[in-house]
Amino acid sequence: MKIAVIGCGSSGKAASALADKYFYTNRVFDDKEQPGATSDPAELAAFSPDTVVLSPGIPESSKLFISAKKLSGTEIISELEFAFRHCGKTLLAITGTNGKTTTTELTTHILRKLGHDALSCGNIGIPLSEALVKYPETSIFVVEVSSFQLDACVSFAPSAAALLNISSDHIDRYGSLEKYSESKFSIFRNMKQDAVKILNHNLLSTYPFENRKKILTFSVSESSADFAMRGNSIFFRNEEIVNLETSSLRGPHNAENLMASCALATAILGTRTLFSPKLADAIGSFNTGAHRQEIIAEKNNITYVNDSKATNPHAVIAAIDRFGKGRNICIILGGLDKNMDFSLLLEKKDNIKFATVTGRCSDEILKALSGIVETERFALFEDAVKAVCAKAVPGDVVMLSPACASMDMFKNYAERGDAFSRIIKSII
Ligand code: ADP
Repeated sequence: MKIAVIGCGSSGKAASALADKYFYTNRVFDDKEQPGATSDPAELAAFSPDTVVLSPGIPESSKLFISAKKLSGTEIISELEFAFRHCGKTLLAITGTNGKTTTTELTTHILRKLGHDALSCGNIGIPLSEALVKYPETSIFVVEVSSFQLDACVSFAPSAAALLNISSDHIDRYGSLEKYSESKFSIFRNMKQDAVKILNHNLLSTYPFENRKKILTFSVSESSADFAMRGNSIFFRNEEIVNLETSSLRGPHNAENLMASCALATAILGTRTLFSPKLADAIGSFNTGAHRQEIIAEKNNITYVNDSKATNPHAVIAAIDRFGKGRNICIILGGLDKNMDFSLLLEKKDNIKFATVTGRCSDEILKALSGIVETERFALFEDAVKAVCAKAVPGDVVMLSPACASMDMFKNYAERGDAFSRIIKSII
C-alpha cells in the first residue's frame, strides 16, 4: 500500500509515522518547500499513491490537493479517517462550534477519575495518529474533531459521539450555515445502530438521519432533554447528578459541556456511572483552560475577563450570558473574519455598554452594530484595550471576547490573550 501524506505539520508527520508503523510505503508532500517533504505535484502523480492522507489545514486551493483529486483510483481521506482505520479501541468523538476542547478535556478527566485509561487527542494536543503510535496501550481515545477533519472521512465511526452546538463560523470555507451544519452532523453518519449519538436538544429537529435510535440529548433550557438543568443542578431524566455550585464550571455553556461529557461516559460505561461519588469528585476537580472566560483580575469592583478563545459570535454570547447578569460589559471585538454573521451579537445589545473594534474585519462588525451599540474603531489592539478600560466604572466587566480569529494581528489566540492580560496588568 502506498500512502501520500499532504501537509508536513504535526498531523502530516503523525500520519507518516503511523504509516511507517504499518510498513506502508509513504511520502510526505507539502506546498511549501520543507525538509523531508516534496512540493512538486508532478512527483505526487509519479508516486501514484493508493491513498492520499490530507492534513487538516490544507486548503482547497492547494496545488498538491488539486493534483491529488486528478489521480484516478486514489482515495483522499483525512488524517482522522486514516488514524481511525488503525485504531480498534474505544473512540469518543466531540465536535461543535464551541466547547470542543473543554468537553474533550473534561471527558478525559472524568474517565480517568473513574479509573479508566483515557487520552485526549485530535484537534487538541496531539493528532489521533500520533496518539496511536506513542500511546498504543490506551483504552479510550477522546478525540476533538473539527469539521475540516470530518469532511474527508469515509468510514469514521466513533463508539459514541457528541455534537455540542452549531452556530455561524467558518462560513468562508463552507459558503453557508447549512453546509457547515451538514459537515458537523456527518460525525454520526457511519456510526453503528447501537452506538450512542449525543446532541444538543436544539439540534434534534434538524437531525438529518433515519437512525434515531440511541440518542441522548442535553440542554440547559429544555427540560425534556435527557440531561437537563434545574436550579444549579444537572439531572439525568429527573435524577440529580450534581450541583454545580462549588464547581469551577461556570455559565450555562459549561453546564452543557458537562452534560455532553456525562453522556459520553454513560454511552460506554452505563448510567450507574452518573451517580458514582467519583463523578462528583471529578467534576469538582476540573478547571477550564486559560483564555476561556478566564477572570484575570478584579479591581474597584470591575471584573477583567480574558476570553480570547471566543473566535465566533456564539462564544461571545455565552460569555455575556455568564457575566452580563445585571452588569454592563465593555468589550474588545475584532480580528480575522470567517464570513460570520456578527448581527448575532445584537441578541446581547442591552448588555454591551461599549465595544472597541480592531483588526481586519472591523468594518463588518461596525456595520452589524452600527447605531445600536456604542462602538469605536482602533488600529492598535493596545489602544482598543485601554479605551474599554477608560470607559468601565465600578460594577462593569471588561472583556476580551473578540468573536474573531486572531491571526491578523497575533500568532494565535493565546498570544492575543497574553497581550490583553499584560496590558490590563499595566493599567490597573
Ligand atoms: P473549541 O475547542 O470548540 O474552540 P473551547 O472549549 O476552547 O471550544 O471554548 C472556545 C470558546 O467558546 C471560549 O470562549 C468558551 O468560553 C466558549 N464556549 C465553550 N463552551 C461553549 C458552549 N458549549 N457554548 C458556547 N460557547 C462555549
